[in-house]
Amino acid sequence: MPWVTRGLREGIVTTPYPRHPDGYGRSFKGHVVCEEKATGTEVAAAAAACPTGAIEVGAGGARLDRGRCVLCGRCCEVAPGSFHFQPGFETAALARPALVVPGREPDDGEVARAREQLRRRVKALRRSVYLRHVDAGSDGSEEWELAALMGPIYDINRLGIFFTASPRHADVLLVTGVGTSGMLVPLRLTYDAMPSPKVVIAVGTDAVSGGLTGGTYASGKGVAAAVPVDVFVPGSPPSPFGILYGILLAVGLVGQAPRGGEARPAGAEAMEGKGVAP
Ligand code: SF4
Repeated sequence: MPWVTRGLREGIVTTPYPRHPDGYGRSFKGHVVCEEKATGTEVAAAAAACPTGAIEVGAGGARLDRGRCVLCGRCCEVAPGSFHFQPGFETAALARPALVVPGREPDDGEVARAREQLRRRVKALRRSVYLRHVDAGSDGSEEWELAALMGPIYDINRLGIFFTASPRHADVLLVTGVGTSGMLVPLRLTYDAMPSPKVVIAVGTDAVSGGLTGGTYASGKGVAAAVPVDVFVPGSPPSPFGILYGILLAVGLVGQAPRGGEARPAGAEAMEGKGVAP
C-alpha cells in the first residue's frame, strides 16, 4: 500500500530522454573544458597535479584527453582560469582522438563517413537491442551506473534495450574496467561468440585508457587491446545518462555531440521514424 500512495504522490519519474532533453541529466558535471591556448605556470601546475597524465602542455597550449580524465577536479582547483567543469552527459565519441580537447575538429565528411559506416552496420538493430556486459577489471563504480539503467528513472527497456546473459544473443558488448591481463582472453572470446553485426562500447575512463590503475604488469591501458571499440564513453564513472547516450550513439539513434562545446540537446527528431517506443 505505501508503494501505491508513493507512486500516486510522485507520479512518473522516468526521464523523457532521449525524446526530450532532461534538465537533471544536463546538471551533471559531465566533463572538463580546457581553454584554447591555455598556457602559463598555472597550467603546468595543473598538468603536474593531474593523477592520470590527462593534460599535455605544448608550445601551442594545453590539451586535455577526456579519455584519461577521471573527473577528480584537481586541474580546476589549480588553474581555474584554464580548466573548468562543464555540465552535460553527451560526452561519448565515435573515435578515440575526438576525446582530446582542444583538438583538430574532424571535418564534416570524416564525421559523416564514420557515422555512415556505423549506421550501415547497425541498421538491423533499430527495433530492439541486447547488451552483454563484461567486467574486464573494473573498480565496480561503472557497474552501479549500469544497474541504474534498469531502474525506474532511466528504464532502458522502454527504448527496446535489454541486457542479456548470453553473448550469442547480444548485439552490443559493454566493456568496463582497465582490461586486466586475466580478462583479455575471456573478453575476446565473448566478442567472438557474438553474432554480427555487433558493436563494442568502452564504458568509463578505465576501459577507454586504463584510468588511474591501468598500465601495470597486470592491467592494460583500456580494452581496445582486446576488442575493436566503436564508441568511447569517458567518465569515472560515466553517469547513466552518459552510458545511455553512448548506447544510442552506437546504434545510430542520436548524432555525435560537438566536441569541446555544449552537448547537443537530444530532441524528438532523434527518435523520429526509428521505430523506438517513447
Ligand atoms: S579533472 Fe581530469 S584532467 Fe583534471 S586533474 Fe583530474 S583527471 Fe586530470
